Amino acid sequence: MEVVILGSGSPLPDPNRAGPSTLVRTEIGDLLFDCGRGVLMRAAAAQSGAGAFRGVFVTHLHSDHITDLNDVFTSRWVMSFAPSPLAVYGPEGTRRLVELTEQMLEPDIGYRLEHHDDLTWRPSAEVVEIESGIALDTDAVQVLAEPTVHAPVHPTVGFRVQQGERSVVIAGDTIPCEGLDKLCLGADVLVHTVLRRDLIEAIGIPRLLDTIDYHSDVADAARTATRGGVRTLVLTHLVPAPAPEAEHEWVEQAAAHFDGEIVIARDLTTIPV
Ligand SMILES: [Zn+2]
Ligand SMILES: [Zn+2]
Repeated sequence: MEVVILGSGSPLPDPNRAGPSTLVRTEIGDLLFDCGRGVLMRAAAAQSGAGAFRGVFVTHLHSDHITDLNDVFTSRWVMSFAPSPLAVYGPEGTRRLVELTEQMLEPDIGYRLEHHDDLTWRPSAEVVEIESGIALDTDAVQVLAEPTVHAPVHPTVGFRVQQGERSVVIAGDTIPCEGLDKLCLGADVLVHTVLRRDLIEAIGIPRLLDTIDYHSDVADAARTATRGGVRTLVLTHLVPAPAPEAEHEWVEQAAAHFDGEIVIARDLTTIPV
C-alpha cells in the first residue's frame, strides 16, 4: 500500500496546501479519505482521479473535509463512458449530504444530459452510513470504522485500511478517544489531523481558540500513536500551517511523546506502507 497526502491544509486557505484529503492506494484501487478544497487537482498530480476511486470515505461533515465532494461526484460522472456509481462511506448524515449535493448540481446535470447525446444516465452514488465495524470488505482489503470524538460535531468516524498484514489509520478530526485507540492498535501508519495549541493560544483570536477543545494537538496525536504502537505518525491538517523551516518544531513536540517515525505532511507527501 501507499499513502499519498493529497491535501495537508485546513479550513484556512493556503496557496501551498489543499484542503484535507488523503489517498490510500491498495490492491483493489485508490481509496479517498475526505475531499477538501482542491482534491482533484492533487489527485491528478498523483496520477489518480474521480474515475479511479474505489471508494470515498468521509470522516465527518465539516465543510473543509467535504467541500469538493461535488467535484468528485460530477467529474466521475461526466468523464465516464458507462454508469459508475460513486461509492461513499461515512457517518450518519452522509446519505443526506450526497442527496443535497446532487440537488445542488441539478442545473448542471440537466445541461450536460441535454448537450451530450452519448451521456444517457445521471450521476449516482451508493452510500454506506457506518458508525462502527466493517465499512468495506473484500478479499484483499478491509476498511473498518470506529466513532471518534469531535463534539459538538457528531457523528464522526475514523477509518483503518487493512491489506494483509499492513494497515493505515485515518483519524480525521478528533480528540484522543477509545474508538481511535482501537483503530490504531498495531497499525503501520497513522494519519492524524493536528493543531498547535501553543501557537493558537499565542495568537489569541477567539474564533481560533474555539478550535482547541475539539482537535488533537501534536502531543495528543503522538500519545495516541504511542498507545497504538504505530510505526509512522503522519501529522496533517496543520493549524497554523508551518513554513518549511518551522516543521522541525512540530517534529520535536511529537518526538517528546512518540519514538517512531514522524512525518510532517506537505501536499503529495507519499508514505510507503
Ligand atoms: Zn472537523
Ligand atoms: Zn478539519
